[in-house]
Amino acid sequence: MTARRKIQPLAPYRRKRDFHRTPEPPGTHARHRKASRGLARPIGGLTFVVQKHQASRLHYDFRLEHNGALLSWAVPKGPSLDPSVKRLALAVEDHPLEYAAFEGVIPEGEYGGGTVMIWDRGTYAVEGADLDRGLKQGELKFRLNGKKLKGSWVLVRTRRGASPNGGRQSWLLIKHRDSAAMKDDITLMKPRSAATNRLLAEIASDEGGDAERAAAGDPPAEIRKFLKSSRTRPRRRRRKPSV
Ligand code: MN
Repeated sequence: MTARRKIQPLAPYRRKRDFHRTPEPPGTHARHRKASRGLARPIGGLTFVVQKHQASRLHYDFRLEHNGALLSWAVPKGPSLDPSVKRLALAVEDHPLEYAAFEGVIPEGEYGGGTVMIWDRGTYAVEGADLDRGLKQGELKFRLNGKKLKGSWVLVRTRRGASPNGGRQSWLLIKHRDSAAMKDDITLMKPRSAATNRLLAEIASDEGGDAERAAAGDPPAEIRKFLKSSRTRPRRRRRKPSV
């Protein structure tokens, strides 16, 4: 795994995507990083982002900056602040660092087609063993400083995940007991974008996606409010791809 990362960490990411069709960043050039909207490089910390992704299934993509890319896991149920809850996290391909600034619509038929929201973002610090060692050992400890997620967390690889059969490694995302722990469901309490305060349906509606389909990932009460107000709300044109 270490060797793969050194050779071409973003090759699997790029293979799956057609950058003439998807607005997702190819992550090829350093200049793209500067151009990415909303991604100011935080001082004194590494980036983490959680993207809520209404694709064929709703999930949350949990990403940690490491060696100039984003280590990534798909968390079907999203993070929980309750330390007694273990959330399945499936390891997926590394994403470019610029991906942390991506919120928008991946066209239907493309890989991951659907709506992506920057659900939370901020910085993180490694706790305990460094990340390379942690990846090898199957245990990553870190402290998050996001808008929604804070405090100490652990990602631990399951025994089955240690040698996947052509599948994805499975890990568990668990909150440690500290002052940031809570029983309430943060995904329901804070369903809006940490970057733009939009719901999935609003992102889809603004950016040429399928708002009805995206709405399936939003809490019903929020959607009712949105539908009421949307009659008077002017529609924005879909932004043209910049490249
Ligand atoms: Mn995803």
